[in-house]
Amino acid sequence: MSEYTARLQDAARFMREHDDFLIISHVSPDGDTTGSALAVGLMLEQLGKRCTLVNEGETPAKFGFMPGFERIVNLREQPLGRTFSCVIAVDAADSKRIGEAASLLAPDARVVNIDHHPTNDRFGQVNVIRTDAAATAEIIYELAAAGQFPVDESIATCIYTGLLTDTGGFRYSNTTPRVMEIAARLLAYGVKPGEIAERCLESITLEHVHLLQRALGALKLHYRNRVAALKVSHADLTETNASPEDLSGLVNYGRNIEGVEVGVLLTENAPGVVKVSLRSRSLVDVAEIAKSLGGGGHARAAGCTLQGGLEQAEELVLAKLGEALAGVGLRD
Ligand code: 5GP
Ligand code: MN
Repeated sequence: MSEYTARLQDAARFMREHDDFLIISHVSPDGDTTGSALAVGLMLEQLGKRCTLVNEGETPAKFGFMPGFERIVNLREQPLGRTFSCVIAVDAADSKRIGEAASLLAPDARVVNIDHHPTNDRFGQVNVIRTDAAATAEIIYELAAAGQFPVDESIATCIYTGLLTDTGGFRYSNTTPRVMEIAARLLAYGVKPGEIAERCLESITLEHVHLLQRALGALKLHYRNRVAALKVSHADLTETNASPEDLSGLVNYGRNIEGVEVGVLLTENAPGVVKVSLRSRSLVDVAEIAKSLGGGGHARAAGCTLQGGLEQAEELVLAKLGEALAGVGLRD
């Protein structure tokens, strides 16, 4: 039995042997962490277990179609006033990614860390990590098989959403035969692919469009057009009445320009706090860059948060990108 299979068995046993669970999705939740958390919650419910789903903040309303969505507690608005001994974290590359939800862990807490990020620091007592999984949801599918937890349309919908969103609609290079096989099986449970794609990938908010107008107006190309940088100031966010989810997908406008190797989006989430999103086309490992700046992610999609102003963050990130481009022979 491989190390990974053994850890899947450990996680399944953990779910069967205990009763009262906390399930944590990562900060700035996406479709994968939300779908994975909900799928695990539904499996526990089928086993007759109690469980609480939590996120440090708000989960984007566009994921509201997933069964159980309304059960996700926004910790910022609803403090729980208690701690938990049995914890499952999904899609969180390191313990910082669970954010303020860390305050809900009892001193004796056992944490099962289920994730697919190569930068995962194995912060759990049980670490179910498969870095070649396209999404954490793919691991959740394998967890259901390992634990013989029955999959129904609701669970299938949540897992499918994780697969769909982390592969960019089955387009990114992480779209393996295994992903397509699992997706096909999930469709057989009654998943509605058109509706899910419409909600997760096609629909954009008016606020997103307003931000896009501003960000494209300030688009800058660097290093002989190998890097495309977009900036969103705190004033842009407040003046367009945008929420963090309205930023989703913005970074791809830079990356998608022909000839560009890395797209970067710098967002001043609060004065003095800059969120950096990095996307690369084929050569630069942006997870390494993000990691060197205190963040993490995948080779083609990564991020970090920097303290300081927008210009300062831009300078730092561009310097790192210059080094990385030189490393892969693209800085001529
Ligand atoms: P995004 O740019 O969409 O926020 O994130 C892209 C990828 O990088 C995702 O896989 C996300 O989990 C990861 N990521 C983003 N920000 C951070 C961070 O601050 N720390 C870590 N470890 N990973 C991050
Ligand atoms: Mn993921």
